[in-house]
Amino acid sequence: MEEIMIESLCRSDRKSHPNDTVISVGDVKIGGKDLTIIAGPCSVESEEQIIEIAKKIKKSGANILRGGAFKPRTSPYDFQGMAADGLELLNLAKKETGLPIISEIVGIRHLDLFSDVDILQVGARNMQNFELLKELGKIDKPILLKRGFSNNIREFLSCAEYIMNSGNENVILCERGIRTFEELTRNTLDLSAVALIREISHLPILVDPSHATGVSNLVLPMSLAGIASGANGIMVEVHNNPKQALSDGEQSITPEEFDTLVEKSKKIFQALK
Ligand code: PEP
Ligand code: MN
Repeated sequence: MEEIMIESLCRSDRKSHPNDTVISVGDVKIGGKDLTIIAGPCSVESEEQIIEIAKKIKKSGANILRGGAFKPRTSPYDFQGMAADGLELLNLAKKETGLPIISEIVGIRHLDLFSDVDILQVGARNMQNFELLKELGKIDKPILLKRGFSNNIREFLSCAEYIMNSGNENVILCERGIRTFEELTRNTLDLSAVALIREISHLPILVDPSHATGVSNLVLPMSLAGIASGANGIMVEVHNNPKQALSDGEQSITPEEFDTLVEKSKKIFQALK
């Protein structure tokens, strides 16, 4: 088979590191032989909301709890997240369930607030915030880097390279859909990027079918397709009551739907082994 390579990469490519990178977060392993399932609401909204959803997703088999506290919204008039209070509630849910937590950091000045957060997320809108990436390269927590919706694979991997080149090798990639001419879905999930990145990089890559499609009914099929394409896991938005969600309700699935999703995802992952 012809080898695919990108010349400007040196730390994220398979040439430098032929084996898959496996990132440990507590007992959870991301990459390699394991399937990682991250789930939770788009935004932390209240104590009851995050504790209830954390317990439910854990019962269904999720490995990591997500919840946004600093929300980079398209409109400044939309819910901006609970900020520091949101991170405190997320941490409470971590203590209550034992699940590791992930949340998005939008500026390095907030770093101290993230002391109990296990994985720091860089959102699609900040993928090329190079100063932020360089600062995140100086810490020792895993960074989940989401692909910018207008960025190609070379640019995506170059951003991982920024973090790694500053000293932090624990980078998890996340394909979350790119902007195309299609209007019926929020973005277009680029599954060939997943398969391609598995070839050229040793870093774990997850698929986010929620932001990729913007449609809750598409989250299950695109999760399965993502895993079938070689993803090391998925990150899914789950809400107790999607209709009442303060952000991204239309793409959020219910805990019951998530339960089915986990069961089917595991089967697909197993079938590929
Ligand atoms: C998110 O995961 O909360 C998010 C805002 O996603 P993205 O950066 O991919 O839009
Ligand atoms: Mn969201």
